[in-house]
Amino acid sequence: SAEKISSLGGPSMWIEWGNLARQNKACNLGSGFPNFSLHPDLKEELHTAAENPVTCWYPRAQAHPRLAEELVATYSPLFQREILPTETIVTTGAYQGIHWTFEAFVQAGDEVIVFDPLFDAYIADSIITGAKYVSVPLMLESNSWVLDKELFANSFNSRTKMIVLNTPHNPTGKVFKRDEIELIAKLSKEYNCLVLADEVYDRFVFGGYNHIRIATLPGMWERTITLCSAGKMFGVTGWRLGWAIGAANLIEKLFRVCICDTFGTSTLMQEAIAGMLQRQRMCSPPKESYFIWVEKIFAENYSKLKKAFIDANMPAVHTQGGFFLIVDCSKRKFDFQDSSEYKSSDDHLDKKIARGIVNEFKLALLPLSLFYSPESKVRPTSYLRVCFAKSSETIDQAVEIIKTFH
Ligand code: PMP
Ligand code: GLN
Repeated sequence: SAEKISSLGGPSMWIEWGNLARQNKACNLGSGFPNFSLHPDLKEELHTAAENPVTCWYPRAQAHPRLAEELVATYSPLFQREILPTETIVTTGAYQGIHWTFEAFVQAGDEVIVFDPLFDAYIADSIITGAKYVSVPLMLESNSWVLDKELFANSFNSRTKMIVLNTPHNPTGKVFKRDEIELIAKLSKEYNCLVLADEVYDRFVFGGYNHIRIATLPGMWERTITLCSAGKMFGVTGWRLGWAIGAANLIEKLFRVCICDTFGTSTLMQEAIAGMLQRQRMCSPPKESYFIWVEKIFAENYSKLKKAFIDANMPAVHTQGGFFLIVDCSKRKFDFQDSSEYKSSDDHLDKKIARGIVNEFKLALLPLSLFYSPESKVRPTSYLRVCFAKSSETIDQAVEIIKTFH
């Protein structure tokens, strides 16, 4: 394992590009975290939780009982089945859910199918567990990202152990369609694989698109671990809370990893988030719920940013869900592109442009090429990922910056 950790190489892209944003004191639409101040409901739940002495104690390792109860009540209707408390486990963010799933189910010699571009944790965890990742590219066709079904079907063999399905998708904003999800389900059954369904953006699906939970398809509950993130859901990524949902025998394996890892996650945060989930369930009228509030902010942010980029001759790919907008930077030329430093850099176009924009305009965006696995057969290099899950003030500031692009 020490050897595998060393083989991960230099610091993560998040550290490198996060530092660049900080050094420039940039308006940050790079990393995907909401930055608005705590919603009053969350503030109240946190204060109430802090008054409860139980929240200073170790949690029950699998889940703080009140949160387990809330997960059961919240997710049973969403999965159209009566979920049991033993079918849930709380994690320190979905990051840990991904890591535990790899630890519990994958080993050297196994193959894991991933879709490129992707959230980089899947690659790191494949490397750490010694699994081979097999990359299937999502292709951009007439303004939406599509799965090449033939290539996908040809990626399976007897060593295939797991498929990672992230929908709504980071970084593309794709929401996988029913026929795509049905194919993933069909092949996972045929090859007896597990599906890691990373659904951290499940509450953020744009009008006209449907979030389909693969675990709800026939025969899939038994072979799917669904991961969620309280951080994404309620804009509190710093609270580091998430959960996994799945059949009890699968969750039991994660629990084994849990007890040799953290032995549970902050009781205080679990109690506060349980209160928040309860509020969403009870909210009447529902239009006052946190989800509706945040959805409205993100939809406004999305339109403002999209327009600003289009005006700057950087057309945007239509987002179907999640936190991100993809813009094309190939159609315009910036003044900084004439500098010798820019010309001598051997970075891809998107990296050069993202560096130029953060250094010259103090706006942090991420090059899409960072999100491709090293083995990916395709790597478009003219796109930038823009996070619109930010406060309205941050978006207004970004729009003013984009207007000054020259
Ligand atoms: N999965 C995806 C697809 C993500 O984008 C992220 C983080 N942005 C995570 C998992 C990790 O979420 P968390 O902050 O809950 O650990
Ligand atoms: N997953 C988040 C994103 O895609 C950020 C993760 C991080 O900052 N480590 O932006």
